[in-house]
Amino acid sequence: MPFQVSKIRAANAAPRCSAKSKRTGNRCKAPAKRGWQVCRMHGAGGGAPTGLANGAWVHGNRSQAMEQNRRDLMALVKLARDCIKALPS
Ligand SMILES: [Zn+2]
Repeated sequence: MPFQVSKIRAANAAPRCSAKSKRTGNRCKAPAKRGWQVCRMHGAGGGAPTGLANGAWVHGNRSQAMEQNRRDLMALVKLARDCIKALPS
């Protein structure tokens, strides 16, 4: 029995979530997730899943990787155009 009481004390002494309600101004009283300042309801653990794990994923043509590929390709095209422009005519 004393073991369970100490566990409850430890749980009550856990760091609390730092989130504050914009409606009431009161602090969230839930325990913060280990290694985070906030609880599981207030953003601990990151945002939505990325890639195929995200339910809104359709084809990936606008994914971060594809957008970066497009930017790299356009930078290469610009470099090629500048080189052609710099050639003596
Ligand atoms: Zn919270």
